[in-house]
Amino acid sequence: MSEILSIVIPAYNEENNINLIYQELKKELKEIEFKIIFVDDGSKDCTYDKIQELAEKDNNIFGISFSRNFGKEAAILAGLKESKTELVVVMDSDLQHPPEVIHEMVKGVVEEGYDIVTTKRISRKGDPYFKSFMSKKFYKLINRLSDTKIVDGAQDFRIMTRQVVNSVLELDEYHRFSKGIFSWVGYDVKYIEVDSYKRIEGKSSWSFWSLSKYAIEGVVSFSTRPLRFATVFGSIVSVLSFLYLIQVIIEVLILGKIAPGYASTIAVVLFLGGIQLLALGIIGEYISRTYMQVKKRPHYFIKKRCGK
Ligand code: UDP
Ligand code: MG
Repeated sequence: MSEILSIVIPAYNEENNINLIYQELKKELKEIEFKIIFVDDGSKDCTYDKIQELAEKDNNIFGISFSRNFGKEAAILAGLKESKTELVVVMDSDLQHPPEVIHEMVKGVVEEGYDIVTTKRISRKGDPYFKSFMSKKFYKLINRLSDTKIVDGAQDFRIMTRQVVNSVLELDEYHRFSKGIFSWVGYDVKYIEVDSYKRIEGKSSWSFWSLSKYAIEGVVSFSTRPLRFATVFGSIVSVLSFLYLIQVIIEVLILGKIAPGYASTIAVVLFLGGIQLLALGIIGEYISRTYMQVKKRPHYFIKKRCGK
């Protein structure tokens, strides 16, 4: 095996980007021998056909196709599992991750001795205002809640050594939040600041709903603090209710006040009901993950392969 570098590229409905990214990489990385591992995450368009066409022309292209859409995290996992080289890059297929940065990444690992070199975006141009606002809030929240720090603007564009890849593969959790996983494994990390670009072709597959799910994933996968929040908040509310109860008893027994008290009763009932539902919801998030983990289902199924 002559190559030392593999580039893992998850792709979901990216038929127009496969050729583009291939050409960009070929153009940028002339001096480096590299292999591309395309992971077609159950696309509904011709993404896999495009990959197959490339694999027939170029021996350094390797493609796998999932039996259905399993999500980007599963696609990254599959790509990492298939990789055999000493260095592995993970990048998106929509050209939002500038290929020229790979030179600097390789240098960071080979010459400067880092284990991971990843990118951090300085601007969010190309993203709608609301999305970048929510994203900032999300990083604040997760870093407050979790011991695993995640840098704001850190992207899923990184290079890592075999040692890091093997560590990441050892984490067999079903719900994979890769930003957290890459931070959790540790090692020496270097951040390169890059501009982010607008997607060239197609549209982002993230909806508001899927981003919210992703955010919950990030928090729940790496922190049990929300569970404690339920306990702490529950305790505070219980103490307050108890004090209020004493006040009510005093008012009725000693002051002889028999007030209608409808408003306050409803307020307390609704408030407590809300808190209870919230706490149950939080617990439910953890239980559902435990449930999925216990089933030990595979992360994905590979339906087709091309290249070698
Ligand atoms: N992707 C994937 N499976 C999915 C959704 C996305 O493999 O279910 C890939 C997608 O093809 C792209 C990368 O993950 O290469 C990032 O997706 P996207 O551009 O939609 O996300 P964003 O850049 O907005 O974070
Ligand atoms: Mg994108």
